[in-house]
Amino acid sequence: MTIRTRFAPSPTGYLHVGGARTALFSWLYARKHGGSFVLRVEDTDLERSTTESVNAILEGMTWLGLEYDEGPFFQTKRFDRYNDVIDQLLEKDLAYRCNCSRERLDNLRDEAMKSKEKPRYDGHCRHSNVDPEEPHVIRFRNFLDGVVIVDDMVRGKVAFSNEELDDLIIRRTDGSPTYNLTVVVDDSDMEITHVIRGDDHLNNTPRQINILRAMEKKPPKYAHLPMILGDDGARLSKRHGAVSVMQYMEDGFLPEALLNYLVRLGWSHGDQEVFPIEEMIQLFEVEDVNKAASAFNTEKLLWLNQHYIKESDPLHIAHLLSPHMGRLGIDPAVGPELVDVVKAQQERAKTLVEMAEISAFFYKDFDQFDETAAKKNLRPVARMPLEKMREALEAQIEWTAESLHDLVQKVSEALELKMGKVAQPLRVAVVGRAASPGIDVTLHLVGKEACLRRIDMALDFIRKREENA
Ligand code: GLU
Repeated sequence: MTIRTRFAPSPTGYLHVGGARTALFSWLYARKHGGSFVLRVEDTDLERSTTESVNAILEGMTWLGLEYDEGPFFQTKRFDRYNDVIDQLLEKDLAYRCNCSRERLDNLRDEAMKSKEKPRYDGHCRHSNVDPEEPHVIRFRNFLDGVVIVDDMVRGKVAFSNEELDDLIIRRTDGSPTYNLTVVVDDSDMEITHVIRGDDHLNNTPRQINILRAMEKKPPKYAHLPMILGDDGARLSKRHGAVSVMQYMEDGFLPEALLNYLVRLGWSHGDQEVFPIEEMIQLFEVEDVNKAASAFNTEKLLWLNQHYIKESDPLHIAHLLSPHMGRLGIDPAVGPELVDVVKAQQERAKTLVEMAEISAFFYKDFDQFDETAAKKNLRPVARMPLEKMREALEAQIEWTAESLHDLVQKVSEALELKMGKVAQPLRVAVVGRAASPGIDVTLHLVGKEACLRRIDMALDFIRKREENA
């Protein structure tokens, strides 16, 4: 059997982390088994579906690298097919027309509420002959007794009594098919073998199985994924912080870190935390998904992000860092090679936003020195070492990290100062603040002209300080 999974988002917003995790698990399952991953856009809710949202979802999937083998298929393009199926069900008397008034249905609901029962349709039109010309909905004629067993790959066997499942509407008065019908027709037509989705759909599954049976189709296997909670135990939502996948991109996360984080939300393999994508594909098993909900933990995501920033190929990081530099108004093509900057900063940033911020000085001058750093390091005692350094740097022809290291050392020795006493004021002068990669690499990447210019600015600063003393 060729494994076929699908991701079936409704385009009513951006791709959120819950959706991305569902997509990831479906994708992993397909990749692991050499199968196909299908993308289907469930856009039948015409009022809430938007093209922007479709684009946002596609953008999110592309960024995460969850490439699909087929699709995107749009449900709105398949209305004829859904209506054919509905008509066939009507013909076989497996569905019927219902013209119950809103008022009647409201009363049914109110009564059920009063007696604390689950509101359900009472089958009033099951045997009436509703004129096709008058306004009506189509209902699925559900089985009256027996149970539907959902043999879920995560939850195990879950039984639903048919009595609980009323005759659900499959075509609305306006002629549009409803969710449970369209999903079933698509899963069947697209030959989906494994439906992996959020457990908020578990209650739909027995209905979908019944419709499939009525269509004489074999139901796929199902795997319902546990909920994702916020740190307060409530279902993850906007108020817990970023939930949009693209927001994570903007905040400087690597796609592989987010994927690694998402795979651990509900799935584990021993106590391993780091799963590069290839390993994820190899080790992932739907059967190992937890039943219990899992909580989102931003600290852990940050930890993984830092891990991947440190461990990844600098060229790859440079590629991802570039737009973040752009956001700071920096064109990384003008100045040191971004990949060299990445090599220098790889150990120093948890996110790419942070890396961009601490790397801006390589490309552009700053207006002022960090106050604390300047107070401590740009003092009158630093004037002479800085002047000497400036002279030496100006005369320096070879501008490599190695030769610059030797130069700082030579100047320190000549002044009989510890290297730090020279290097730290020099760093604050050139970087604007107290932290940077090694002084040699820093000087090398900033370049001679900018170094001299900034040392002059630091000397000015010290002079003013002296004047005001
Ligand atoms: N379109 C549904 C949703 O976004 C998913 C349906 C399904 O996976 O069966 O919640």
